[in-house]
Amino acid sequence: MGQFEAECLMFDIGKYKGITIADSVVSSIMKDKPMVIQVEKNDWGEAAVEDIQSLLENVRDQLLRHFSDPPSGRVIVHYTPDTPVNELRKSPQDDHSIWLCVKNRLWAQFSYQFAHEFCHVLCGTNEKQYQKPNQWFHEVISELASIFALKQMAVNWPENPPYVGWSNYAQNLDEYANKIIDSVKKPSDGLNDWLGVYEPTLRDDPYQKNWNPERELNKIVAVELFPLFQKAPHHWQSVADMPSTPGSFETYLTKWHQQCPAGHKSFVRQIACIFGVSL
Ligand SMILES: [Zn+2]
Repeated sequence: MGQFEAECLMFDIGKYKGITIADSVVSSIMKDKPMVIQVEKNDWGEAAVEDIQSLLENVRDQLLRHFSDPPSGRVIVHYTPDTPVNELRKSPQDDHSIWLCVKNRLWAQFSYQFAHEFCHVLCGTNEKQYQKPNQWFHEVISELASIFALKQMAVNWPENPPYVGWSNYAQNLDEYANKIIDSVKKPSDGLNDWLGVYEPTLRDDPYQKNWNPERELNKIVAVELFPLFQKAPHHWQSVADMPSTPGSFETYLTKWHQQCPAGHKSFVRQIACIFGVSL
């Protein structure tokens, strides 16, 4: 059996909803200074800025705790009545910015939007200058980050909520994530065949803004890849090395595999394997 087949067999993830991360897996240490989140005093409706701040720091931690080398810097969070978006800093002295389109105490929605945009920051993807044609895959990973963060919060909040009174909210977070997972149509013949049909559409229109506002195509792939990240969350670090290339998706995966540290290469190969690409 070749390495490619062996790694494909390793991808035996079972039912994603039942999986929780073993303590031994959550061993990556948060460096003493995680990326700083600063929520601006905008009109957030009935939500207090301090509460949004605590919430988004919690979302941040669900992802950064799995980074062996978490990034530094500051993210300024603003309200927008338009769609959520991010803007990367121009230099290490600058701040990143994220705009969220949520008001009032819709904590699951805040978490969902922020995790998506924060993941773009971790990937180094600027949505204001998005990189067609492989931007669709960055959108997939960011959708996945939202699902991942919500599911992790649902697991962690009963014991470690941001505020004592918020532990019961874990169930709502879990339901919100499950609703996303259940909303997508699983590809009947796997992602390889599915991508053969939809890749031209995704490469041309990574957001499907005008005809598919829920971005179902991105969500379908995110839900398929989610168990891989849930099973081995320390590989979140590998998203920092996701490339930007106008080449084919195979070229994209090849570059990602080349750029990422040795400890994450087998993980990228597992992802490639799901798309029928042998690296
Ligand atoms: Zn996005």
